[in-house]
Amino acid sequence: MAGLTLRDVGKSYGGLSVMSGLELDIHDGEFLVLVGPSGCGKSTLLRMIAGLEEITDGTIAIEDTIVNDLPASKRELSMVFQSYALYPHMSVRKNLAFGLQNMKMTKAEVARRVDEAARVLQIEELLERKPRQLSGGQKQRVAIGRAIVREPKLFLFDEPLSNLDAELRVQMRVELASLYAKLGTTMIYVTHDQVEAMTMASRIVVLRKGTIEQVGTPQELYTRPANLFVAGFIGSPK
Ligand code: ADP
Ligand code: MG
Repeated sequence: MAGLTLRDVGKSYGGLSVMSGLELDIHDGEFLVLVGPSGCGKSTLLRMIAGLEEITDGTIAIEDTIVNDLPASKRELSMVFQSYALYPHMSVRKNLAFGLQNMKMTKAEVARRVDEAARVLQIEELLERKPRQLSGGQKQRVAIGRAIVREPKLFLFDEPLSNLDAELRVQMRVELASLYAKLGTTMIYVTHDQVEAMTMASRIVVLRKGTIEQVGTPQELYTRPANLFVAGFIGSPK
């Protein structure tokens, strides 16, 4: 059964179409990677799934329930942004707990989840620091931690590693892969990095100008790209 289904999904801004006719079944527990050139609609698609952007046409369903009109706070998912989006005046501990503010939960449960996320991401020593006292990689760990504390069924990542230097990106990629292995939750992951896409994905979706060019496993896209555009993007021999 599909965890998430997109049927004929389209998006317009002020009457100008940027996406149309998107059909996609995202399976429970898969690591789906979205790739495509800048401006092709990757962030827009994630934001529609998250409920941060109105869906102009079609339907998005989570576990068979159409969520078009469900507010973001009621969707059982977490999104991690490229820009970290941490609150500068709050400690790391408070930033982590902030992810839970809309969920009715005891203080003890909040503390348990914050401690657990800090342990998983190895940021226990940083809990009392402010974001300005953290390195880029540490900030991104906190941003991921804030997503984890919600214990969502679905994670949305919008180029989470693109602000990090190459060495740290490799390290974080390994950490994200092990996090995925541990949690087993569905991941939708946007990246510009072909190595990230090829090594982390269960399946890759190649987007171009708001439509899907091809969906397949890394192996399928590499060995049987549907066209030159996909071949160019995936880096297979032309
Ligand atoms: P990507 O994340 O793949 O780089 P985006 O989803 O950000 O692409 O953008 C897809 C298209 O939608 C682009 O043409 C962009 O200019 C347009 N777009 C995105 N957000 C807005 C907005 N708030 N208003 C108008 N156009 C937008
Ligand atoms: Mg984007």
